[in-house]
Amino acid sequence: MFGVLGVLGVLGVLQGRRDAVARAPPARWVSEAARAWFGLKYGRGAGGLCRLESRAGPAGTRARPVPGRCRRCRDRGALRSDGPAGDSSEAGVESMAGPEYVRAHRLQEALECLAAGGFEILCGGTDWYPANAQRACSTALVDISGLSELRQIEQDESGVEIGAAVTWSEIREAEWPASMAALPAAAREIGGIQIQNTGSIGGNVCNASPAADGIVALLALDARLVLASRRGTRELALAEFVAGARRTLLRRDELLRAVRIPARGRRARSVFAKLGSRRHLVISIAMVAVQLDSDEAGRILTAAIAVGSCSAHALRLGVLEARLLGHGVSEDLAALVRPTDLAGLAPIDDVRAGRAYRQSAAEILVRRALTEAKA
Ligand SMILES: Cc1cc2nc3c(=O)[nH]c(=O)nc-3n(C[C@H](O)[C@H](O)[C@H](O)COP(=O)(O)OP(=O)(O)OC[C@H]3O[C@@H](n4cnc5c(N)ncnc54)[C@H](O)[C@@H]3O)c2cc1C
Repeated sequence: MFGVLGVLGVLGVLQGRRDAVARAPPARWVSEAARAWFGLKYGRGAGGLCRLESRAGPAGTRARPVPGRCRRCRDRGALRSDGPAGDSSEAGVESMAGPEYVRAHRLQEALECLAAGGFEILCGGTDWYPANAQRACSTALVDISGLSELRQIEQDESGVEIGAAVTWSEIREAEWPASMAALPAAAREIGGIQIQNTGSIGGNVCNASPAADGIVALLALDARLVLASRRGTRELALAEFVAGARRTLLRRDELLRAVRIPARGRRARSVFAKLGSRRHLVISIAMVAVQLDSDEAGRILTAAIAVGSCSAHALRLGVLEARLLGHGVSEDLAALVRPTDLAGLAPIDDVRAGRAYRQSAAEILVRRALTEAKA
């Protein structure tokens, strides 16, 4: 018993909780020592100080609670609205346990965290947690999933704006014009219902997995992204934003605020087709999204064809898109596809499929999607 306490106490000292352990009455040694161990295991900042608070304090001071910043501190009565930086233990900050986590309640609050530095964004967590499950949490997290500013879907004549924290279930259940049908179709294919209830469109885009179903649908719909930081907002085409496998042009102090999809004519249609090793809850071997818009005579005005899971990031098939222009939507569009149209893809061999299989599956999906899009 004393051995275990001793080890935990040493870990507590290493973790910077020496004062807290030493000051505690004997009856709280176990809880203080366990708290210290928990902090060490999960990579909490030294001394258990809230990172927001300690950053906000002037140099040389320990912690300076800032009103409205950290919900957890506020909930624990740790904040003093205008007091000078003082003894953090008096303010109650030092007694916090667990990894640093801020649940933002306003967009500005999240942007302040990102501007302060050292924060990672958490939304539904369905990509973040699997990626981090095997290692200690070493960064502070700002949770944006509850931000009402990021939870709206708004439609007008110019198109649709989807808040970054909108879930796949919300997208699946919303009403969409036929020109954007590829998006709810992709939503239905993402994980299972539980994942769709939690995973967000923004998380899918910013995680930038080569197998992200949402990105393929959005790429075919010419989506643009609204990126926000404390400095202001900027807009970028999705095609520019995703720079490689899990690489984006998101800046450290930015978050994705919304996804914009431009409106198309009333004859425009879009479809999404996915191949996995089973019907549901599966990562794509290949997926394709197509959008076709045509004039009154049924001639194709615009064509967009995106392929995913077959290169470091999803790609558009520009040569094929150009060849389709002017053809009738009721023609046999699948017959216009040539294997060379997919030459820009660079599929990999992995546990899900071989390179050649992926390449040929992508070609078949493109033909099927074109056939379906004209219906
Ligand atoms: C069992 C399972 C099955 C899955 N199946 C599929 C599937 O079939 N198809 C598919 O495409 N995906 C699938 N996924 C992946 C995942 O569910 C989706 O990509 C989901 O949309 C991620 O959203 P999230 O809100 O959970 O992101 P999070 O995990 O919260 O975040 C993912 C990344 O994006 C960043 N981020 C999140 N939101 C923002 C923002 N607004 N601005 C800037 N950065 C942000 C985070 O910092 C993190 O790096 C699956 C996941 C699981 C666990």
